[in-house]
Amino acid sequence: MATGTLTIDLSAIADNWRSLNAASGGAVETAAVVKADGYGLGAGRVARTLAQAGARRFFVAVAEEGAAVREALGPGPEICVFSGHMAGDTDMIADLDLTPMLNSVDQLTRHMEALPGHSFGIQLDTGMNRLGLEPAEWAAVRDLIAAQSPRLIMSHLANADEPGHAQNAAQLACFREMTDGFDAPRSLAATGGILLGPEYHFDVTRPGIGLYGGLPFDEAKPVATLALPVIQLRDLEAGETVGYGATWQADEPAKIATVSAGYADGLIRTMSGRAMLYANGVACPLAGRVSMDLLTVDVTHLTQVPRELEILGPDQSVDQLADAAGTIGYEILTSLGARYQRRYLGAGG
Ligand SMILES: *Cc1c(COP(=O)(O)O)cnc(C)c1O
Repeated sequence: MATGTLTIDLSAIADNWRSLNAASGGAVETAAVVKADGYGLGAGRVARTLAQAGARRFFVAVAEEGAAVREALGPGPEICVFSGHMAGDTDMIADLDLTPMLNSVDQLTRHMEALPGHSFGIQLDTGMNRLGLEPAEWAAVRDLIAAQSPRLIMSHLANADEPGHAQNAAQLACFREMTDGFDAPRSLAATGGILLGPEYHFDVTRPGIGLYGGLPFDEAKPVATLALPVIQLRDLEAGETVGYGATWQADEPAKIATVSAGYADGLIRTMSGRAMLYANGVACPLAGRVSMDLLTVDVTHLTQVPRELEILGPDQSVDQLADAAGTIGYEILTSLGARYQRRYLGAGG
């Protein structure tokens, strides 16, 4: 078997949810964001695990993603859709019992006409300028919406991973101004917002990345381990080169391991010449360019080359690998490809 093994620790995901839940007061509900197939780790397994841990409200990006989550959870838990109620979504929203987070006057109109009485939430724009009603639009529809009992009023922070950023306080003030006195549960904080402190928590928090072991939740337990099989070992003489473009050259005799995984598996090409793999804790640098299905790794310094090298695990976190690739942990996780053999550890699987 030449595919890599992606091991996903569901108990660690449950522990991360409990830790983020404990970071807010007992009256605050901790939901779970499972969009993009649970940040690439499997929305159904993750949602079931978190429902067992106590989560009762889940968020997906688009209505289509609600299907796998509803199938995993069965009736009962609330599944909220960040993109709201798009044209063509009505049947899915009704059949899967989804709660669209309406983000424009158009969506409000569509929802009230197509599914009167069906649950919904509202997204407000407090400065990110991505999704949500602007203050003037909200002022115009606020009383009408109050009469319809929305399930949640939410907004999203643009700089929550930077505690000192002035936009956090500005968005908080804007959110308060728009929603104080409005009779519905409120939500502002994702992972970063939870860590900003209690004034950001309101009634419901919406952690995503922290559940999956990523920054800015630096106390997160690691969740993903990715081990890649060595499929060939070769000895090079000084002066020989490795890979496309011949970008790596041996200064002296070297040993190269060719490992099964490449940019088609989410190990993006910008890792070339920068990222490390690990052999039982010993760092082994990539040699040459990442190709579609293969990585070439300098293992000259190893006395014994193991059958597999790790690229994610105890020696290298998702964020450390992301740093080497010039990106963020979110992108590494959600890019992990479909070819890996996926193994789930712990409860809920
Ligand atoms: C993705 C997302 C979240 C979760 O954010 P994390 O930073 O992963 O915790 C919460 N709310 C909204 C609106 C999102 O788009």
